[in-house]
Amino acid sequence: MLDTATTTFTSFDTSEYVYECSCGELYKMAVSALSCRKCRNYCVFGYCTHVIDTTTGEVVAGTEPTLEEYEEARVLAEAKWAEEKAEYQLRLALDRQEGALYEAYMAEQAAEAAVVAANLTMDNLYVIQDELSGY
Ligand SMILES: [Zn+2]
Repeated sequence: MLDTATTTFTSFDTSEYVYECSCGELYKMAVSALSCRKCRNYCVFGYCTHVIDTTTGEVVAGTEPTLEEYEEARVLAEAKWAEEKAEYQLRLALDRQEGALYEAYMAEQAAEAAVVAANLTMDNLYVIQDELSGY
């Protein structure tokens, strides 16, 4: 019976692609799998940790992380991805010049500008005071 959920149909022969990297991409050579660039974005470690020969199920390059190492990296990666998503949402709101993020950012910018203006005013008053005092 054909398992359509796990069987990939392609226009070329994939039987030589037996080396699987950390993110699940298949390669012809283990060294290519170990330097997989997709792992930078899709693997929680940010790089390919190990390569599995799918014909034997054995790790042929790198070191398979322990469950603890994986969980630790997953927490860090999810925090980083959430931060990147928030930054993206802010940029999107800024580009559109709308939304709560845009309003909050503009209010933050206005508050910073008010502090700079107040400091500049105070500096100018000190300069005037020094001139009037004859310094
Ligand atoms: Zn990969």
